Amino acid sequence: MIVAAYRKPAWQKAITLAIMLVPCILVLFAAIRLSTSPNRGHLPYILTVIAFVLVGIKARMYGISLGFHRGLTHKAYETHDWLRGLFLALGCASIQGEPVRWATDHVEHHRHADKDEDPHSPEHGFWHAHWGWLIDSNFEREVNPVFKNDKLAMKISKWTWAWAALGLAIPAAIGALVGIGWWDGMLWGGGVAIFFANQGTYWVNSGAHTFGRRDFETDDRSTNFWLKGPLGYPLSLFMAWMTCGETNHNNHHAIGHAANHGMFKGQLDPSARALRLLEKVGLVWNVRWVDAEEAARRQRELTMTPEERKAEALKAHRAKLAEKSPVSV
Ligand SMILES: [Zn+2]
Ligand SMILES: [Zn+2]
Repeated sequence: MIVAAYRKPAWQKAITLAIMLVPCILVLFAAIRLSTSPNRGHLPYILTVIAFVLVGIKARMYGISLGFHRGLTHKAYETHDWLRGLFLALGCASIQGEPVRWATDHVEHHRHADKDEDPHSPEHGFWHAHWGWLIDSNFEREVNPVFKNDKLAMKISKWTWAWAALGLAIPAAIGALVGIGWWDGMLWGGGVAIFFANQGTYWVNSGAHTFGRRDFETDDRSTNFWLKGPLGYPLSLFMAWMTCGETNHNNHHAIGHAANHGMFKGQLDPSARALRLLEKVGLVWNVRWVDAEEAARRQRELTMTPEERKAEALKAHRAKLAEKSPVSV
């Protein structure tokens, strides 16, 4: 079932589908081009195009993860306007729409996770959660007022297509400079990288609500995408790396404000590592880290009955009062 509120006219669906198919066609085109190119056996050329793809993916994914998601939507840290603007612009280069609309959709996802009003839940079909919801999504709906009041995010959003174009022009220029040519630079660092970065993001909505482990008993289907076995583990590791840690999605649903989505041993989270480094050099501050103690407390809380939860909250409140009071209570 697809939620009626997110239906849009057929012509808009057709345009969205066409835009979404472009990176898929470019990947096919790139594969054919590589297999027929006179450079196909030339190792430096192969390594160069791989580097273009990897850098292209990571730049965009840090933009989505640190810019759109942990920064704009969840306010998990604070930073200078120029760095916030840079992360948001990098996210725009993924062609996932305007940051303020992305964040608006994402707030709805958290508010109604895996319920009827969730814009992208596998409850409405795996395909719908992965991709189909974008085709059905109503991009005309109101931007959340929180983001509407964010001047910088609105300004960056207004120029989304310009950042996306820049995200193609830069690898094209570098391609020309390093000798593989502007077309190959744009194809591998642009089209192919966009395809993989987007599939990574889509996977968080579909795969990380379907497969993997649940460290927290949240009342949705979110999972931390960590599979076992000789095939499962490398795949999970690759997805965590590619999405900059966003596949630790059950942790994120349990503690939405956390700057670190990796909370337990072995849960790779490149965005958290980047934030630690940026915090160390003073470029980000007020980072909302979640330590093992807070994670364990939240795990306990989610397994409690409502009565137990109330009693626990009262106990914590009394402990706080006792801390402040000069006499013991
Ligand atoms: Zn979120
Ligand atoms: Zn989710």
